[in-house]
Amino acid sequence: MDNNRKPIPPKKPDPEEEKKRREAMQRQVRFSLGYVITGLVVLWLFQEFILSPMLVQPAVQLPYSDFRQKLAEGQITNISIGETDIVGEMKNSDPTIKGATVRFDTVTVLGSDPKLVEDLQTAGVKYKFARPTSPAGALILSWILPLALLGGFWYFAYRRMSGAAGGGGLGGIFGVGKSKATEVKPADVGVTYKDVGGCDEAIAELQEIIQFLKTPEQFAKLGGRIPKGVLLVGPPGTGKTLLAKATAGEASVAFFETSGSAFVEMFVGVGAARVRDLFENARKAAPAIIFIDEIDAIGQSRANAMRIGGNDEREQTLNQLLAEIDGFKTGTSAPVIIMAATNRPEVLDQALLRAGRFDRQVAVGNPDLIGRLQILKIHSKGITLAPDFDLDRAARMTPGFSGADLANVMNEAALLAARRKAEAVEIKDFEEAIERVVAGLEKRTRVMNEQERTAVAYHESGHALVSALTPHGDPVSKISIVPRTRGALGYTMQMPTEDRYLLTADELYDRIAMMLGGRAAEKVIFDKISTGASDDIQRATELARRMVTEFGMSDLLGSVRYAGQQMQYLGGAIEDSSNVSPKTRETIDAEVQRIVTGQYERAQGLLQEHRPALERLTAQLLKCETVDGNAIKAALAGEERACS
Ligand code: ADP
Ligand code: ZN
Repeated sequence: MDNNRKPIPPKKPDPEEEKKRREAMQRQVRFSLGYVITGLVVLWLFQEFILSPMLVQPAVQLPYSDFRQKLAEGQITNISIGETDIVGEMKNSDPTIKGATVRFDTVTVLGSDPKLVEDLQTAGVKYKFARPTSPAGALILSWILPLALLGGFWYFAYRRMSGAAGGGGLGGIFGVGKSKATEVKPADVGVTYKDVGGCDEAIAELQEIIQFLKTPEQFAKLGGRIPKGVLLVGPPGTGKTLLAKATAGEASVAFFETSGSAFVEMFVGVGAARVRDLFENARKAAPAIIFIDEIDAIGQSRANAMRIGGNDEREQTLNQLLAEIDGFKTGTSAPVIIMAATNRPEVLDQALLRAGRFDRQVAVGNPDLIGRLQILKIHSKGITLAPDFDLDRAARMTPGFSGADLANVMNEAALLAARRKAEAVEIKDFEEAIERVVAGLEKRTRVMNEQERTAVAYHESGHALVSALTPHGDPVSKISIVPRTRGALGYTMQMPTEDRYLLTADELYDRIAMMLGGRAAEKVIFDKISTGASDDIQRATELARRMVTEFGMSDLLGSVRYAGQQMQYLGGAIEDSSNVSPKTRETIDAEVQRIVTGQYERAQGLLQEHRPALERLTAQLLKCETVDGNAIKAALAGEERACS
């Protein structure tokens, strides 16, 4: 029920990726639907406007008796006698119809008029017997032939696309085999490492690449192995794309940007053709950098992938990619470097990571305090900040934020300042922008009944007080019971004084107690608990489990890592704990439970002891909806405060 930022990264599959995957699938479905519909329309047009007029030419319908009469009058010139009808030409007696003769059609039955041939003979009419038309003939003409044509056309296009012959003209008829990469000319790249904040280590590792792109001969002379592929590993929004582009900017080479999902299509061979097209273009523009975002879309291990579009297609695409990388000539004067980004290097096919391919891996993580300060500086360049806007403070308020988050918050702050028609962006705009980005927009229209509101107020006060009452609790900067669109009914915002990467067991215990503080407050006050605490419980349990299995903080189990390998299984992450014996697993569960219940009871004890403070803080919260950190101190000191 709160949105505290925590330095321990959550292990959740990335929803962005899921979305992209779904979109790629939708694209495939749309494409094939489009082809089927177009095909049917073409078929219909063919039958309606080409075939029908050819088969059934307009003719005058004559009853058999009229036909006999015209024959006697000598009007008929020539006929063709079929099994069921007689068609032919007769002299035109109708002035409204042009021409000397008109076609006619008479229904008859072959052999019903034995005198017919004799009469035709005497009248001197040219006659013939038509070959019986089998229904198969009509079927072939109107359906099978056009369908075969359509299919053949498709096969032809498809052959061109998959480029069995390789080389030029890969675009095929629809340009399906063209890579969807955007090419940026060296002069237009426009970003350098100055535009990237908090990635100093990654930048240091990329220096070699720049050196190589700039002076490949020099590089080859010294005997260094030519770098080919760099894998940027890190969560989304940390600036991997930016970093790759800035590398192109630093080396002033062309930049090709694309995404793994752009290669994934339904039809076998399309992806491979696109890979080939991309590398061909890059080689033409060399020296160049190719950047493939989300390479896991094509580079996923062949062993554990089950996807729409078939494995064949992805495998071909991957093989083509490997072939292209291997095909780079060493010591070339026009080098091409391929950079790729992923958040899940563990799912990549081992073949991709082999020496001479993506053998260089550069980690790009969420920025630390100094990195965040740099990034905020970069993104506040075009923004008028108030003179007392403290970027350092802003950086301290945003632990766990990615570069993209920070850019987003800064932009949102500028919008908020503009909305209140201010001259400059104040720190309070920034603060509000954080809340928006973290918790979704304020949604004051949502009505909570009084009982719910009270429960939420107690819950959040519980979090805040436990945090204040434990020795290692992070200071609370703000508590709010204003409902947010993203599902949180209220939240407690903490501002850690610094980024923490090393945490002691005591600190983690305090953290768990704080997470359970909301639930403890509900238990203490109402002696019952609501569903609102489920997220808290999940996070507390997760942390306790990691303490036991990863951090070796349980005396019973000792400093042994029990956490299994994270495995990708049907798109979800599961823990493979097959190397943990059932008995140990029981012990782990018992230890996790001991930690969580222990801290839950501790939180309850603290709140029971400071129950008046809990009541005061809750009353304050119900009155003001949002209070800052000082309200907690005031509540503990027994002071009444007005809303600020
Ligand atoms: P990724 O490729 O890792 O998902 P992007 O490079 O697409 O992330 O980042 C999106 C945007 O976020 C960038 O265009 C930039 O404006 C901002 N950004 C992200 N990381 C940084 C950074 N380290 N320094 C400056 N801006 C950043
Ligand atoms: Zn909560």
